[in-house]
Amino acid sequence: MDTTKYKEIVEEIKPYGTHLVAVSKTKPAEDIVALYNQGQRIFGESKVQELATKATQLAKDIQWHMIGHLQTNKVKVIAPFISLIHSVDSLKLLTEINKQALQNNRTISCLFQVFIADEETKFGLDRAELLQLLASPDFARLQNVRICGLMGMATNTDDEQKIAGEFAGLQNLFLELKQTHFSNRPYFKELSMGMSSDYKIALKCGSTLIRLGTILFGGR
Ligand SMILES: *Cc1c(COP(=O)(O)O)cnc(C)c1O
Repeated sequence: MDTTKYKEIVEEIKPYGTHLVAVSKTKPAEDIVALYNQGQRIFGESKVQELATKATQLAKDIQWHMIGHLQTNKVKVIAPFISLIHSVDSLKLLTEINKQALQNNRTISCLFQVFIADEETKFGLDRAELLQLLASPDFARLQNVRICGLMGMATNTDDEQKIAGEFAGLQNLFLELKQTHFSNRPYFKELSMGMSSDYKIALKCGSTLIRLGTILFGGR
């Protein structure tokens, strides 16, 4: 696999202090190894079984991020080792993650996925749903999950103004919650936004985690 683009992007994002999640879904283990050998340690997958299989096969110091929609009944498969779950979109799911974390004697880091696009197909909580979740006494009782920030996906469009507007909206919500709900939580610091087509815009809007697949590994 050609790693030229990977090296370019690593240099490009350095000034921002943003971390790269290499999205390896559907790609073979050897492609992951190619980037691993260049120093990449964070890899993102969107299907539980594929993630678990790759995690078994590959180096133990890889930090696996779950970026796709997660069903409650599959949490137990990744709970023993997952490094960050980007796609928490309900209290029910978070409660199950907490339960499985407890069973594995660990704390699992999570992001809330926020719906920012104007498309019906994308998962996530809207602002009101997220505020309601955060206010719930059941949420306050969860001791084995660590909320590290927010994730969002912009509308799939060429309109850069529109994408920038959606990312800025997510950044504003992140900054607001940091003050109102997570002021004494230094680990609430991650803003996961930006994919191959829009990561340059996301960098300017304060993204701390960009999730790149196609641009690194080629089309799927
Ligand atoms: C597949 C995927 C990505 C990567 O998309 P590319 O356009 O290939 O960079 C990022 N985030 C999520 C949630 C994904 O499912």
